[in-house]
Amino acid sequence: MTETREAVRGTPVVPGVAYAPVIWPSPRPELEPGLPRIDASSRDGEKLRFEEAAAVVAQRLRDRASTASGAATEVLLANAAMAVDRGWLGAAQKLIADGTPAEEAAAQATEQFVVLFTKMGGLMAERVTDLRDVRDRVLSELLGLPEPGISTPETPSILCARDLAPADTAGLDPEMIVGLVTVLGGPTSHTAIIARQLGIPCVVAADGLESVTAGTTVLLDGEAGELVVEPDPGEARSAVEQSRADRARIQGWKGPGRTSDGVSVSILANVQDGAGARSASTTAAEGVGLFRTELCFLDRDSEPGIDEQAEIYAEVLEAFAERKVVIRTLDAGSDKPLRFVRQVDEENPALGVRGIRIAADNPGILSRQLDAIALAANRTRSQPWVMAPMIATAAEAASFATEVRARGLVPGVMIEVPAAALLADRLLEHVDFLSIGTNDLAQYTMAADRMSPELASFTDPWQPAVLALVARTADAGGATGKPVGICGEAAADPLLACVLVGLGATSLSCAAAAVPGVGAKLGTVTLDTCRRAAEAVLATSDPVEARAAATLIFEG
Ligand code: PEP
Ligand code: MG
Repeated sequence: MTETREAVRGTPVVPGVAYAPVIWPSPRPELEPGLPRIDASSRDGEKLRFEEAAAVVAQRLRDRASTASGAATEVLLANAAMAVDRGWLGAAQKLIADGTPAEEAAAQATEQFVVLFTKMGGLMAERVTDLRDVRDRVLSELLGLPEPGISTPETPSILCARDLAPADTAGLDPEMIVGLVTVLGGPTSHTAIIARQLGIPCVVAADGLESVTAGTTVLLDGEAGELVVEPDPGEARSAVEQSRADRARIQGWKGPGRTSDGVSVSILANVQDGAGARSASTTAAEGVGLFRTELCFLDRDSEPGIDEQAEIYAEVLEAFAERKVVIRTLDAGSDKPLRFVRQVDEENPALGVRGIRIAADNPGILSRQLDAIALAANRTRSQPWVMAPMIATAAEAASFATEVRARGLVPGVMIEVPAAALLADRLLEHVDFLSIGTNDLAQYTMAADRMSPELASFTDPWQPAVLALVARTADAGGATGKPVGICGEAAADPLLACVLVGLGATSLSCAAAAVPGVGAKLGTVTLDTCRRAAEAVLATSDPVEARAAATLIFEG
């Protein structure tokens, strides 16, 4: 890529190269100040007008959900539910009943929830973008304006935005939107998750992006995290061709995972429900390394019964019959609150009652889930591995393992808390495997909220301090011969995945769309090279240096 052109740099999220003009989303509706108040006699009609607008928006989002798939469907359905959420509708109707016009009521009611969600932090804070997106859609409907956001361009384009609402990214057509760049967003933001699923080259936290105007032709490199403005057309076209050839080679990768010198490393998929598992089973993924069970229940008011849970878990086990499936027990709280899980108000939910800690305050919730997993295992004649999230002590690991073994299942724990990584050898006295969640491990090691775009460089999984804890955990596994997998986003980065193998990881689990890229890259390097890269990375002081050290070893 030419060095002399103006370039914008950000955090690389989805590899791939695109050369196309830039588009920006259409502006959000502006609310004129001083709208006349509503007469008492017209307030019922105004309430109806508001309700109808919200219903239209919800229906549009549901329609788009019916043509989307996987995470995109979830996101659109969640936003549709938000548009007709009783709490939000009620707050707006109360304002209308006092004479506030519907447009202002929608805006004010939204801000009430924005304040609440922001205070809650984590994933709830990230949902503020969704809330404002729903508000803008309802406002446009009330004002008789076209739907805000992204309209499908006439020629393939690179979509640039300050931040993208999930409802925007969820409906994207990868044939027409060939690249995504945002000013905000971290590697685990909604934009990143959907871009990864759709395989659209993507860069987030791109500083200076706002100076790149609509219509400018740019070259986006999702692996380097770079956007070159008005590049040399010849160079740009050959970069795209090279990237297409690389992609075709990658898509042709069929597994199983192993290094070029034949050392086996299973490449697994992260899934969140039966549909996701069925779609992952059509890829080269050798199994499921992380089934995030809590994501099946985000919209539930009450805890699903054992039978219903068993049916849901069985769908995933069936999709990967006779292959490895690792089921994680409910990781509720903080960024993933579940309505049926009792939780106290906390100043700092990421450091509060979340993951395995919810079991203490919710008697029976863990044992009922384990019963359901055992039932699903029985029905599908499979032997899933079962792991607990957010383990911090050996005592937690011991008690979890006892419960899991009592049901004839294989127990393991996630390593997401530095304390657990440091004492991995002692945790392994109780469980049969470990799985490192690098997203949370980075958050807690670096004391940086994983959802914060401002802190994205801290939570970069290439942070040498995080990798030092991965090394310590893998060493503990190596000493006992017990498997240590990686299931955080780090495993989706082909280069980093090879470093993780060099550090001693025995399996890698990532979004299904990332599986071929990881497998293909691993197949080009020897275990010894991975180990040398791991050693070099551990000797660095920051993520940029770490990435460069690994690149030098793998790519010369
Ligand atoms: C992690 O923390 O890396 C992980 C895999 O769990 P989640 O992203 O669901 O918190
Ligand atoms: Mg986690």
